[in-house]
Amino acid sequence: MFEQILAYQNLDSKIIKLKRELEKDPAKQNINNAMAIAKDFQNKLVELDSFASKTLADFEKNKKRYAEAYKDFDKLNKQDVSNFSSDQLNEQIDKLNSLSSELGSLERSISALADSISNILKNFEYCKQNIMSSKQKFMENKQRLSQLEEKIAPQVNAIKKQMQDMEKDIDPKILAKYKSIRQDKIFPVFVPLNNNSCGGCSMSLASASTSKLKDIGYLECEQCRRYIYFEK
Ligand SMILES: [Zn+2]
Repeated sequence: MFEQILAYQNLDSKIIKLKRELEKDPAKQNINNAMAIAKDFQNKLVELDSFASKTLADFEKNKKRYAEAYKDFDKLNKQDVSNFSSDQLNEQIDKLNSLSSELGSLERSISALADSISNILKNFEYCKQNIMSSKQKFMENKQRLSQLEEKIAPQVNAIKKQMQDMEKDIDPKILAKYKSIRQDKIFPVFVPLNNNSCGGCSMSLASASTSKLKDIGYLECEQCRRYIYFEK
């Protein structure tokens, strides 16, 4: 009863094996790495972008305040103080000192912000270069992978054709069950009963299930969803 589906499954396992070889090729890993690196640098670019906006806004704010403070300083400095009392003179000197110290501190801030902007630009360039080289690596490996796929395609297609030819000899109900489980990437789909346990996941079957299985010939495993078969 299960001879056909087991032969069918056996052919399917050959396709899986061929595809697994492909998955093991370094190209596959390189593609995943390249994608992860590109994503990483894309995220860094987003962070940099928001940092750049903030830094530029600070830079503009400081420059504006510097211009204002400079204007005030210049105005005070040019003021005619010949008729000032000594208190007024002292007050004038205090104001000039305070503005001068603020101007000095603003100059240092502006210079630090300018350095920071220049660093951000360098980082932008660094991220962009890394994204570009990741994309290059991605493309190269993608190409290698499709070449490998092309190489195994005739084998895979021949097996698929063989399987297709077999389908007419398989009980449609069993074939439908097979295809449905296989679609969920569970393999093998049909497993033998093994010491009253599932031949796929080793779960022991209750004696009621075992007798039901022996009666019908197959039973879906409650744990792994595989079909446990029993040859009378
Ligand atoms: Zn199982």
